[in-house]
Amino acid sequence: MPTITLDNVEKNYGGETNAVEGLDLTINDGDFMCLLGPSGCGKTTTVRMIAGLENITDGSIRIGDRVVDEPSAQTFVAPEKRDIGLVFQNYALWPHLSVADNVDYGLKLRKLPKTERTERVARMTEKLGIAPYRDRYPSQLSGGQQQRVALARMLAVNPQLMLLDEPLSNLDSRLRLEMRAELKRIHAEFNATVVFVTHDQWEAMTLATRVAVMNQGVLQQVGSPMDIYDRPVNRFVANFLGVPPMNFVEMTEASPQRESVVAFLGRRVPALDEIGSIGVRPESLIIEPSGTTSASEHLVLPGRIESVMPTGGSWTVETAVGTQRVYATTLQRGALHTGDDVDLVAQAASVHVFDRNEQRVKV
Ligand code: ATP
Repeated sequence: MPTITLDNVEKNYGGETNAVEGLDLTINDGDFMCLLGPSGCGKTTTVRMIAGLENITDGSIRIGDRVVDEPSAQTFVAPEKRDIGLVFQNYALWPHLSVADNVDYGLKLRKLPKTERTERVARMTEKLGIAPYRDRYPSQLSGGQQQRVALARMLAVNPQLMLLDEPLSNLDSRLRLEMRAELKRIHAEFNATVVFVTHDQWEAMTLATRVAVMNQGVLQQVGSPMDIYDRPVNRFVANFLGVPPMNFVEMTEASPQRESVVAFLGRRVPALDEIGSIGVRPESLIIEPSGTTSASEHLVLPGRIESVMPTGGSWTVETAVGTQRVYATTLQRGALHTGDDVDLVAQAASVHVFDRNEQRVKV
């Protein structure tokens, strides 16, 4: 299976800023690569460039050994010659073909024998739960059903490389969960390479073997989901992953919480004045009675409980640390009450330190 290599890829649609800038990304054989980032960060542009639906402005794209787009060498391989399975958010089903004929479409193009086509269409419509609608037309289906037809159509041809742009966006939450599990299974079974666009961090974390986080056209970090979660390279990535998001304490302003952080950082960092902020995830904070924890071994933020909110299986505790809101999540409510003075305690290993340019500092 081919590796996809993007080398210093740039895309400009004619405006002042590039939609994608200096993108170096390698998608390896068998990867389930999720492109993750906020709206407008360049995810869709990136998959469309890999597919050949958009040409690149500069740099090069290779699929395996073959250069498919390189403006400086005037090379451009048409989308249909790139041998890629595609599903986009708007499905692009053939309106005049029934569900079964839509799924059959790619098989017919590949001139597969009729018996095999019939068998594959039956298997895929069954697998994706659209067999009961096989004789209907796209206009007679809901958005979610159309999305499943688009997936079935793509999977029927056993593509080695699949590009999926928010393919589950129109499904309700249960179906979405089921389809995620199905996609994960298909990825393993077909041993395919998948590039999957999503703005949903939970979706990326649960599906991907590797995640590429983008912001404003620039790749921020590539790594395994846990790598990105546990070792974000900068504040943007740290802040983008996690619900509730990471808590930050700014070092640039004089505040009681700054003093707690200075006490903790102590000799851990060589130049304290280069530190811009520290971050702690809500689940890394343990709530202890006020004044019971040593502030040199652990980070201790003195706070007051503002509210204790049930979130189903756990509790989110909102606290005021000085003028700042800090959130902690806990599985047990225990004896936590609004108005209590508490210490929010984090182990040294779970404290993220960022410099004044918002880059991660190793401590
Ligand atoms: P979303 O999650 O909202 O789909 P995205 O991360 O996929 O966003 P893109 O659709 O790739 O982002 O858009 C990246 C940037 O390029 C945006 O600023 C967008 O406005 C711009 N853009 C995208 N397509 C075009 C186009 N055809 N012409 C001009 N600008 C475009």
